[in-house]
Amino acid sequence: MSKTLPVNKNDYIDVVFEDLTHDGAGVAKVEGYPIFVPNGLPGEKAKVKVIKANKGYGFGRLMELYEKSPFRVDIPSSEKHKYGGCQLEHISYEGQLQYKENQVRQVLKRIGKLDNVVVHPIQGMDNPGYYRNKAQVPVGEKDGKLIAGFFKPRSHEIVDTNESVIQLPEVNEAVQTVKEICNELGFPAYQEESHKGVLRHIMARYGKQTGELMVVIITRTEDIPHKNKLIEAILARLPKVKSIVHNVNSKRTNVILGEKTTVLWGNEVIYDYIGDVKFAISALSFYQVNPVQTKVLYDKALEYANLSGEENVIDAYCGIGTISLFLAQKAKKVFGVEVVPEAIEDAKRNAKLNGITNAEFAAGEAEVVIPKWYKEGNMADVLVVDPPRKGCDEALLQTIIDMKPKKVVYVSCNPATLARDLRILEDGGYQTVEVQPVDMFPMTTHVECISQLILKKGN
Ligand code: SAH
Repeated sequence: MSKTLPVNKNDYIDVVFEDLTHDGAGVAKVEGYPIFVPNGLPGEKAKVKVIKANKGYGFGRLMELYEKSPFRVDIPSSEKHKYGGCQLEHISYEGQLQYKENQVRQVLKRIGKLDNVVVHPIQGMDNPGYYRNKAQVPVGEKDGKLIAGFFKPRSHEIVDTNESVIQLPEVNEAVQTVKEICNELGFPAYQEESHKGVLRHIMARYGKQTGELMVVIITRTEDIPHKNKLIEAILARLPKVKSIVHNVNSKRTNVILGEKTTVLWGNEVIYDYIGDVKFAISALSFYQVNPVQTKVLYDKALEYANLSGEENVIDAYCGIGTISLFLAQKAKKVFGVEVVPEAIEDAKRNAKLNGITNAEFAAGEAEVVIPKWYKEGNMADVLVVDPPRKGCDEALLQTIIDMKPKKVVYVSCNPATLARDLRILEDGGYQTVEVQPVDMFPMTTHVECISQLILKKGN
């Protein structure tokens, strides 16, 4: 224990929480030294016991609340609420939205130095629970029975729960039912330490617009015990099932899906719609998990792109081409770029499925492919980016600045990198017209934004 730290282990201190971490813990500061305290909310005064004092930060336990946040809501203390990955469930939805919107405003000012940009009120959900269309649930064993649910944080212990408050009821029901069936059939659960046993994960995906359900059984072994009985029971108890898939993952790994996938019954894919665009979703495809808010986000992308039908559009980081196909309906031509080749195959298939002929897709890194296109003279009138959390590569931003598309639409899942990249684009001749935060992931700390930039006159 160093004397230079403002607190020591086992100290009791009074604090006021200022912020939340990405895990949803309260952040309090003592002489600038941050202490992370699970369950503390911004604005609350509390007594905290210091349980760890590292060099740059500490951890504490909430002992007593002197002043409660007006946004605090009581949630049941059951394990589903404690471990279900909903870091903000103890904040009212109004409070969650306010927290996320403030975060966007502050970060754009602090990191992006964007003092005058218009940030619209965050667009939340009317019903902010039970929205996820996919679950991948680890399976274990307790007292001779199969259990399935969530991992406790920083552990490999599984909590047996039949429900998550953010998954669609059809998804919850599918996972629970498959667990029961596997239990009745006596499936041995996979054992991590010994790398023995059979059943590793149960996965379910649901097309909200089509009502089609996919069940994926992930095992260590090539063989599935009682295969026919399993299929019969799933069909009897889950009438929405259109696809039952078996995935084999024989490796010692945290990665959920393995290399070998076979269809046990029905189709290889299920279908879903975003707006009027139809998507085929396989067990391995990436697909947005909140279909209601995805539509909100893509409608905004279309509004910000403001297409007349004459434009060439580049969609960088296009995944399975969701935004590309949405925009293709109103553009002359759309070019999508994505680093995962399988996603590009899905994008091409989805274009065909919808009879869309004015979208082309290329596999590769956006920061390599788009500069190459630029050198070859292929320009865009509108450029859309939707990068992962780390934001856009600098080489891509520089190419945008050189290429000078009239409009840039930036979709972001991380306000900090959005702010950094907007600053670079502003310095390169763009003006950020507006930013619209959209709550894609209620009950969690994730914040999504979409913003419109235009090329300033004279550039
Ligand atoms: N626009 C899509 C997907 C966005 S997620 C949608 O709305 O569904 C971000 C995507 O960027 C992922 O599919 C990821 O595989 C891809 N990606 C990550 N790094 C990349 C890079 N350097 N170049 C191109 N794509 C990349």
